[in-house]
Formats: sequence, C-alpha cells, structure tokens
Amino acid sequence: MTIPDNIERIISNIHDAQKKSGISQKVTTICVSKYHTVDEAWEVYQSGLRHFAENYSEGFLEKEAALPEDIVWHFIGSLQSRKVKEVINKIDYFHALDRLKLAKEIEKRANHPIKCFVQVNVSGEATKNGISPEEVLPFIEALQGYQKIRVVGLMTMAPAEAEESYLHTLFKTLRGLRDQVQKKAYQYAPCTELSMGMSGDYVIAVEEGATFLRIGSAFFTTR
Ligand SMILES: *Cc1c(COP(=O)(O)O)cnc(C)c1O
Repeated sequence: MTIPDNIERIISNIHDAQKKSGISQKVTTICVSKYHTVDEAWEVYQSGLRHFAENYSEGFLEKEAALPEDIVWHFIGSLQSRKVKEVINKIDYFHALDRLKLAKEIEKRANHPIKCFVQVNVSGEATKNGISPEEVLPFIEALQGYQKIRVVGLMTMAPAEAEESYLHTLFKTLRGLRDQVQKKAYQYAPCTELSMGMSGDYVIAVEEGATFLRIGSAFFTTR
C-alpha cells in the first residue's frame, strides 16, 4: 500500500458511505500529519489533498513553514493558552475550543475571526477533552460578543475501541447537538459543520453526517 493507494481507498470508502446514508453533505477530508515527516505530508499533498492538521504547536510550525502556502491548516489539539499567539494567525480552523480562558486568549491574539469547532466529550471518558453535551448551549451563548471567534461547528473524538452501534449513537448525538445550536441562528455561531471521524471510524461518521474528517494513520500505513 502506497500513500496514493491509501488516498484512493479512503475517497472511495467515503463515497460509498455517502451513498449508503443518503445524506449528501459536502465532506472535507483533513490529513492529520502529526506523526509523520514533512516528506510524507508532501506526498499526500502531491496526491491532491489541501487540508492538513497538526495537534502540537511545534509540529504545526515546522510543517507550516515547510509545506506550500495553499494548504488550509487545521489545529486539532488542545492548545495551551500561552501557545495561542504562536499559531492562531497561521491557522484556518481550530477544532478544540473547550474553555472560556482559551476563547479569551484567542480574542486577544487573533487578528481576524477564527473558524472554531467547540469540542464535545460525548462519550464522557475521563481522558478526553471537551465540554459535556449539557454544556454546549450555555458555552456557545457565553461566546457571544467575542469578535475573533466564529463557531462553525462541533467536534468530537470517539473511543478507540468501540462497537459500531455505539459509534453511530455517539455521532448521532453530536449531530443532534449541532442541529440545536444551528436552530438558534446566532450570527457568531452558524454551527453548520461536524468534525468527527478518524482512521478507525470515518465511514460511520460520514454515515452520520460528518462534514470534516480528521484522518491520520489510514493515509500513511504502508503495510
Ligand atoms: C491524531 C488525531 C486524529 C487522527 O487519528 P488517526 O486515528 O490516526 O486517524 C484525529 N483527531 C485528533 C484530535 C487527533 O489527535
């Protein structure tokens, strides 16, 4: 399996999942390059992908400096407040907004509105970041008035080892929350997007309406 083979397989799996679900959302596939070199990321770029993600500021800054300028950059990791100023004006999307302290730091450091996903811990695992489902509406309401935060959607991470039926439930829950926020029609929080689905579960995420997939290892495994 080469990287182009992997990409072809991922794209065809996504098409099949969309056909099966009958949901015809636009799906953007993000290549999570965090465990891989600039050269490997470059190979994915050459196969046509333009959305890339990193989860640590060091890795992000290295890749962002080395790779072409037309890349759309996503930051998917929890960001320490003191690191915000290093990365915030170089990214297009931030997927891990989960506390007001971080929102305040973004408000202070960003020089344009940042497209943010609010991270939700749907599974309730203690090891996962994100706010609880009950907190989603109050949290987003508290973001009103932040000029630099635009809530474009919700993000979640599923447990690594989970039954298919549980994954369906989890992703459906995030979609329901997204719909609730979207209905409020807040100007600063259109909340139309769903960032969910990784290498092990992206097919199920697409079936449940994902619009941004964060896929890492499935691009790079060459076994
Ligand atoms: C690493 C990571 C991914 C990608 O994981 P894979 O299983 O390699 O596809 C997606 N989202 C987040 C937040 C991550 O940290």
